[in-house]
Amino acid sequence: MTTTITLVQGDITGQSADAIVNAANSSLLGGGGVDGAIHRRGGPDILAECRALRASQYGKGLLTGRAVATTAGRLDARWVIHTVGPVYGSSGSDPSLLASCYRESLRVADELGARTVAFPAISTGAYRWPLEDAARIAVETVRTAETSVEEVRFVLFDERAYEAFAAQLR
Ligand code: ADP
Repeated sequence: MTTTITLVQGDITGQSADAIVNAANSSLLGGGGVDGAIHRRGGPDILAECRALRASQYGKGLLTGRAVATTAGRLDARWVIHTVGPVYGSSGSDPSLLASCYRESLRVADELGARTVAFPAISTGAYRWPLEDAARIAVETVRTAETSVEEVRFVLFDERAYEAFAAQLR
């Protein structure tokens, strides 16, 4: 099965997809950037499930490069898949950890049976990963992933991010 990669410029919280990926932090309890936007628009049910995860299997939070799903609340999606990107320039700035975010999110999507998955440009905001490099890792990882997901849609917030991803697909 081949996965189609599509690009959209805009706000990921307005997308319709089976699963929307959140660039979360390890606490799973919300933050700024795309994380804040997802919780604001998705409503309190998402945070309630995140708190429940923290109270059960994820007592110490979610590790960098891993992914876990919750309800999507009021978003036009069935699930939010939370993943924790690496912080660039810290001891964790390992490209394989950024690749792992995409791979693990797709693995969770497969477990759920999600066919369309929307991703933001993980780690390129507060976590400062250079856009061109992050786009290359994202596209390469999705292209080579073994997944039943039919459409991976990268939703890029601004034109610069959109162009960085578009360049990887040319
Ligand atoms: P991280 O901490 O992983 O860097 P951020 O949320 O700070 O996560 O940024 C990740 C990317 O998401 C950045 O490119 C940022 O511009 C983008 N972004 C922020 N808000 C949204 C949104 N509502 N929809 C899509 N992308 C967004």
